[in-house]
Amino acid sequence: MKYSQLLLKTRRESGRDTESVNADLLTRANYVDQVMAGAYTYLPLGLRVLKKIENIIREEMNAAGGQELLMPVLQPAENWKKTSRWETLDDLFRFTSYYTKNEYVLGPTHEEIVTPLAKKYISSYKDLPLYLYQIQDKFRDEKRAKAGMLRGREFLMKDLYSFHATQADLDAYYEVQKQAYERIYDRAGIGDKTYVTFASGGSFSKYSHEFQTESASGEDLIYLCKKCKIAVNKEIINDQTTCPTCGKSDFDEIKAIEVGNIFKLGTKYSQPFDLTFVDEKDTKQPVIMGCYGIGLGRLMGTIVEVSHDERGIIWPKSVAPFQVVLVSLGDEKVQKEAEKLYKDMINRGVDVVWDDRDESAGTKLTDADLLGIPLRMVVSRKTLDNDSVELKLRSEEKSEMVRIDKLNAHVAESLARAK
Ligand code: ATP
Ligand code: MG
Repeated sequence: MKYSQLLLKTRRESGRDTESVNADLLTRANYVDQVMAGAYTYLPLGLRVLKKIENIIREEMNAAGGQELLMPVLQPAENWKKTSRWETLDDLFRFTSYYTKNEYVLGPTHEEIVTPLAKKYISSYKDLPLYLYQIQDKFRDEKRAKAGMLRGREFLMKDLYSFHATQADLDAYYEVQKQAYERIYDRAGIGDKTYVTFASGGSFSKYSHEFQTESASGEDLIYLCKKCKIAVNKEIINDQTTCPTCGKSDFDEIKAIEVGNIFKLGTKYSQPFDLTFVDEKDTKQPVIMGCYGIGLGRLMGTIVEVSHDERGIIWPKSVAPFQVVLVSLGDEKVQKEAEKLYKDMINRGVDVVWDDRDESAGTKLTDADLLGIPLRMVVSRKTLDNDSVELKLRSEEKSEMVRIDKLNAHVAESLARAK
């Protein structure tokens, strides 16, 4: 890909969400465009990042036995009346059809759809366990949507729902999901700042677990155990004055972003929808459920919040839109050489984007820093006089001149070093 073909016009000024670091950087760098508070377009560059995040999540959910499906956003009000959430959810988008006068909901989550669906497939213990997930748009009438990608009124979520015959089976699968979540955050480059956090469990379980990433932009306060690096959230710190894992009560209060939540639902939704199965002894039992959610846009915004500097974004290589940015500085001769290098790299399968624009060196280097692609390769008259290019990792200050005939090895070595 070449910059001259990309939907790209770097802006020195950001959009309206200036108080949010992720919105400011992602907007200025052409990853997203704000339509209104809480609703964003993913531009071609941003969609590449989103797809990388989506693939990490999909791989981990498939490895945990999940089957992917896609449920509708548009949902009948009657399902929501059945669980009483029609009345109790403040952030539910509700509306009435102009023609039929039927009432609808734009789904903020999908228990009300997946539970009646599962009822069509589950009748015996032999049909269990079952793990269904989707990566789907959610709608919530959030009171305050000013944190960029962290809080949308429309946002993408991966939601998996598990169905079990016994509590023990749910408990075991819950641990499988907890580990899958930890791998997702590790792979997305924020594992070292993301903590398993005990939260209240509702009526069916003592605890649920949030995954909280330490960040000054976080809207949540968590209490991080100094010894075992797990945390408890603000909801439960008053009841839970000691660490649930090690028993110590030496906490640091930190601000954090909730990047995921896993929850034991028990029979909360199987009861209203009469989702039951017949066990080995021919006795009818309610199905026991769990749910596991993660916001993709929020994860993207969180990565930017924890991985940037005053010059711009620093993408972890696992989610970067490209691995290498080739920056050509100089006259037509330099451009010609750059084109050769670019084509050569494409042929060798290097994930490279070329800043081939007719812009000043200052603009090109500033934009490279803003966009945050892991490895920058500068080619100029000066480097070519030495049969070389200059390589620099976005995450490091030092650069190195490397000979073009040894470029392959140096690119591989640099990328291996990048986070
Ligand atoms: P919050 O307390 O931040 O509003 P929540 O408890 O309402 O979050 P859940 O219902 O557990 O969130 O949703 C699962 C996941 O979806 C969250 O952990 C988060 O990653 C993501 N998420 C929730 N609300 C939003 C939102 N408005 N915008 C973007 N992502 C969201
Ligand atoms: Mg919420």
